[in-house]
Amino acid sequence: MSLTAKKSSNPLPLKERIKVPRQLMPEQAAAERAHNFSEVNLGYSAELAQQEALRCLECAKPTCTDNCPVGVKVKEFVERIVIGDFLGAAAKIREDNVLPAVTGRVCPQEDQCEGKCLLSKKVKPLGIGYLERFVADYEQRMGTHIVPNAAPTGKRVAVVGSGPSGLTVAGDLIQKGHKVRVFEALHEIGGVLVYGIPEFRLPKQIVREQIEYMREMGVEFETDVVVGRTITIDELIEEEGFDAVYIGTGAGLPQFMNIPGEHFNGVYSANEFLTRINLMKAYKFPTYDEPMLDLHGKDVAVIGGGNTALDAIRSALRLGARKAYVIYRRSDSEMPARAEEVHHARQEGIDFQMLTAPVEFVSDGKGWLTAARCVRMELGEPDASGRRRPVPKEGSEFDLPLSVAIIAIGTGANPIVQSTTPGLGTNKRGYIQASEETQRTTRKGVFAGGDIVTGSATVILAMGAGRRAAKSIHEYLTTGEW
Ligand code: FAD
Ligand code: SF4
Repeated sequence: MSLTAKKSSNPLPLKERIKVPRQLMPEQAAAERAHNFSEVNLGYSAELAQQEALRCLECAKPTCTDNCPVGVKVKEFVERIVIGDFLGAAAKIREDNVLPAVTGRVCPQEDQCEGKCLLSKKVKPLGIGYLERFVADYEQRMGTHIVPNAAPTGKRVAVVGSGPSGLTVAGDLIQKGHKVRVFEALHEIGGVLVYGIPEFRLPKQIVREQIEYMREMGVEFETDVVVGRTITIDELIEEEGFDAVYIGTGAGLPQFMNIPGEHFNGVYSANEFLTRINLMKAYKFPTYDEPMLDLHGKDVAVIGGGNTALDAIRSALRLGARKAYVIYRRSDSEMPARAEEVHHARQEGIDFQMLTAPVEFVSDGKGWLTAARCVRMELGEPDASGRRRPVPKEGSEFDLPLSVAIIAIGTGANPIVQSTTPGLGTNKRGYIQASEETQRTTRKGVFAGGDIVTGSATVILAMGAGRRAAKSIHEYLTTGEW
């Protein structure tokens, strides 16, 4: 039964709520999980979730919701948890967020909803991500998806790319009665959620279940189609008869440092490394053999300090690495990775070489990597990003022995779609130009959003763009106005 909770259902007086400690997320022990790919966080029980929910201050103007890129109604879903109406809580979240089991696990909550929770002025913020994950998993276990059945409009939309932005567009438009077909270059649906983020943070089964739900709603998926090569955007519109196209192709083009030795055997881009693990199933070692990724007894380093870097090095540890380093040129406070991942990585024994940067890779003379030549850095004046610029310390050079180095310093826009779509405007970095309000591009009937517009960002920002695009596509399809 779904309740409409108008008055507070929380039995605790406000001043008592602040005394309830934030409920810890049960997790696999660090020593154990460092050697397996099973999920690190085990999820709240119903009791823990209800105890945590009691901490909500039920603010009149909830800043958590304002600071969520898709405006999840936190207060309203949390009050349903208090009264044990978990399915009602899930339905409330789904009004704004089609992938709650994903965002509950991977959103950088400390910068978003939880970052603005009033509790955090005095104590730890409400565990919004943990609660979101709990209700989404509960709903999944109960198998009670409501499959909307809107009257068909006769309009057809092509979605290019099956990452979180494309999936959000597809999920929203199918509920409006439009026919939606998603075209994906890879053989698996889900974008970074399946080929980037590893199993121990986001089990693939969670993503598959969300995709199954979309299939049930009527979304069609076509894999192994590289739009711009297999078929162009113009052909989708003119020959296949799609009424609108959404481009959500992400920012998957690896960037390199352009230092000597980057071509040696043993140097990977994080993109290739993680794709081999995720899609070629190296994470199921030894059931699936990926000989290049047998890292037993090897010393491995990742260069970079974002989520991708941590995912890569924690995967390397699980594949048997003897030593696993993060080499990052700034300090802890500038690291862009989620706080929880940094904490977990430290617990697992990853060695953080902060304020350090490689200047060259060294080989054995036969083309195989043997070390990264590094320098120590100190922080100077802020640069264009507002972060203090790292400056090399004179005479600090040293060699770090390594068999494998993984470059995770960022990604760029893959140009295939842009270069094969006449009239599609791009900015100077090759990303597609699209309106921030409507996600409309410079081509009539063509919309774009997610990382291919903003550059590498977050899952929920990509979903937020997808949501705006779906609204705008619906308007375009129903009014014909551009
Ligand atoms: P993507 O997820 O990149 O999906 C794009 C899809 O389009 C891909 O499947 C791609 O194969 C497909 N495609 C590309 N070109 C074509 C074409 N020509 N034809 C057909 N299909 C095409 N964000 C967080 O919020 N939290 C995290 O913890 C987090 N961790 C991350 C870890 C890693 C390893 C990486 C790489 C990113 C992480 N991010 C995280 C960032 C987040 O995943 C991205 O911002 C988000 O996935 C962007 O979504 P998207 O839909 O724009 O693109
Ligand atoms: Fe927080 Fe992300 Fe959920 Fe929004 S979607 S409430 S930012 S966890």
